[in-house]
Amino acid sequence: MRRDSLITLTARGLFCERGDFYIDPWKPVERAVLTHAHSDHAYRGNGSYLVAKEGEELARIRLDPDAKIESQPYGKSSLVNGVKVSFYPAGHILGSAQVRVEYRGEVWIISGDYKLTPDPTCAPFEHIKCDFFITEATFGLPIYRWPNPNEVFAEMNSWWRRNRERGKASVMFAYSLGKAQRVLAGVDDSIGPIFTHGSVERLTNAYRNAGVRMPKTTYAGNVTNKKEFAGSLIVAPPSAQGSAWLRRFGPHSTGFASGWMMVRGARRQRAIDRGFVLSDHADWPELNRAIRASEADTVYVTHGFSQEVARWLNENGINAVTLKTQFVGDDALDLMDEESETKLPPKWRV
Ligand SMILES: [Zn+2]
Ligand SMILES: [Zn+2]
Repeated sequence: MRRDSLITLTARGLFCERGDFYIDPWKPVERAVLTHAHSDHAYRGNGSYLVAKEGEELARIRLDPDAKIESQPYGKSSLVNGVKVSFYPAGHILGSAQVRVEYRGEVWIISGDYKLTPDPTCAPFEHIKCDFFITEATFGLPIYRWPNPNEVFAEMNSWWRRNRERGKASVMFAYSLGKAQRVLAGVDDSIGPIFTHGSVERLTNAYRNAGVRMPKTTYAGNVTNKKEFAGSLIVAPPSAQGSAWLRRFGPHSTGFASGWMMVRGARRQRAIDRGFVLSDHADWPELNRAIRASEADTVYVTHGFSQEVARWLNENGINAVTLKTQFVGDDALDLMDEESETKLPPKWRV
């Protein structure tokens, strides 16, 4: 990045000096603009926040209770010290946004985390043309190609049905913000009752408040008769794996929903009965499609396989540069307690 460029990378995060604001800063700053509420993008302790209206409640849940949060609907723009700032859907989780920054005709898109796969729990990714496109590369290798989500949900349903026939509960581990709600929206709730871990229940209610259709769920902590759990589906964050919390469910089978379930051995390593390949990030074809559609002169690549993606783009006539940000990549967080992302084992750090 040029020193005088509209967006620069600093020790605190991506910075727009002209507008005096940061995008997803990882150290405290006066003014933060957020792409979405995942903890590796929405750090606490900033002076003020600007978020997409559609993700405002999630931001309020994730940030300090007294955080100063302003919001702006998708597609609307505002001037921050003379710099035009707007949000466009990123298709990643509810309220996730690409941040569009424009000054004197120069346009940047900071896409945050995104996917193009249809997802009923959030607005679809919008292709916005720009001069500079900042993209993630969490799954930026040609081996990553997601199966059709409908097939994945059909597998989930038959796993749940079979467990139910055997009187077993089905415990599905899914990252509590985004993935858990995608699982809930995708499963067939006529199979049996659905129970949730507290963190999942709270965030799922935020989805309901935003008008996203969710099946009926019951917070598992409110259940006194443990027999109710037999044959049910329980949605819990990955941190619950191996915890005493699981004992109440009696005999059960475990499942895990993550893009990493495509990696051979990931399921076995975590001693999970069933892995389901379900990611909220773009796979290899989606990354290529989004980058081409941006028609950017320069693409900055961050997260995950940034070097591989940048090399591929340069070999294919697109000017690309890697960018070393400190986003952990929440599909890595997928595998961990969201509160302990800094303690990720090295093999999951992307
Ligand atoms: Zn994310
Ligand atoms: Zn991320």
